[in-house]
Amino acid sequence: MEFILNKIKEYNRIIIFGHERPDGDCIGSQYGLYNIIKETYPNKEVYITGESSEYVGFIGKPELIDDSLFKGSLAICVDCANGERLSDQRYKDCDYSIKIDHHINVDSFCDYEYVDTTSPACAQILVEFYQKFKDELKFNLAGAEALYVGIVTDTGRFKYDSTTAKTHRLAASLLEYGVNIGKIDNYLSVETIDNLKLRGYCLNTFKVTEHGFAYIVMTRDIIEKFGVSDEDAANQVTAISTIQECPVWAMFIEYPTQIRIRLRSRGPVVNLLASEYEGGGHPKASGAKLPSWDKLDEFLAKADELVLNYKKTLEI
Ligand code: AMP
Repeated sequence: MEFILNKIKEYNRIIIFGHERPDGDCIGSQYGLYNIIKETYPNKEVYITGESSEYVGFIGKPELIDDSLFKGSLAICVDCANGERLSDQRYKDCDYSIKIDHHINVDSFCDYEYVDTTSPACAQILVEFYQKFKDELKFNLAGAEALYVGIVTDTGRFKYDSTTAKTHRLAASLLEYGVNIGKIDNYLSVETIDNLKLRGYCLNTFKVTEHGFAYIVMTRDIIEKFGVSDEDAANQVTAISTIQECPVWAMFIEYPTQIRIRLRSRGPVVNLLASEYEGGGHPKASGAKLPSWDKLDEFLAKADELVLNYKKTLEI
C-alpha cells in the first residue's frame, strides 16, 4: 500500500479505470479513490474513465475521457481481475499501471498489482488504504458514500461469507463522515413498476432442473417487452435466490452480442463451472458466457450434477 501511495504522489495525472458493466463495488471504488486523491492533492488531475451504471448512478457517472490524457499518467484499475474486462483499454497507454482488486488473480495486466482475495469488496481495500495513511490523506462525504455503497453491494448487505468483523469496522468508520444509510438503501432498493413486473415474470417462469438448479432465461424480446435496461434485467437474478430446494441458481441473459450467465450459490463452489464457459469469479458468485442457446442443455446438465453432488455431501 505504501508503494501505491508513493506512485500516487509521483504522478500529477491519475486515471481510474473500472470494468465493463460496472457494479456498485466498481463505481464505488472508482469514486471513493477519486475523492481520497482529489481531497488530499487538489492540484492533481484525477479522472474516472469507463462505463456508467444506472443502478448506482447516484454516486457518479463515468464517461470515456479523451485520448490525449493517457500518456504521462498513472492508471489505477479497480475491481477487475482480467485486463480484457476493463471497459477502457487505454490503461495500456499510461506510463505506469496499478491494479487494486479482490478477485482471484487470474491475469497480470498491470505493472504493480495489489490483490486481497480475503476482502469482500474492492472498496474495503480502499477504506483500509485510507485508514493506513490517515495522518497524511484526506477524505470527504462523497468518497465515504461511494466506498460504503461498494461494501454494501458486494457483501449483499453484509450477508455473504466473506463479510468479517473487519468489514463492519471499516464500514462503520465511513459512517463517521456522515454517510446516510437510509438514503443509500433507498437508492439501492427502490424499483420501477416495469422492474417489479419483470420480477413477477421471472418468479412465474423460472425453471428448476431435476436435482434443484434454478434458472431464468432472459431473452432480448423479454427485456424489450418489459421496457427495462439490460442492467435492471440482469439484476433480476436475485429473484430466485431464496428457494430452499435450489442452492445454485442462475440467469442466462441475452445481450446484443453475447449470452451471459450470472451464476450464484449458497452452497457449492461455482467458479469452476464458470471457468468451463469463459468465466470465473468468486466461489459463490460467478459469471460466464454461453456460446449459443444450443449449449443451454449441456450447461444445465453440468449445473444439475453440481447440485446433485452437493446434496449428496449433505446426506453423509
Ligand atoms: P456477475 O454475474 O457478472 O455479477 O459476475 C459475478 C462475478 O464473477 C463478478 O465478481 C465478476 O468479477 C466475475 N465474472 C463475471 N464474468 C466473468 C468472466 N467472463 N470471467 C471472469 N470472471 C467473471
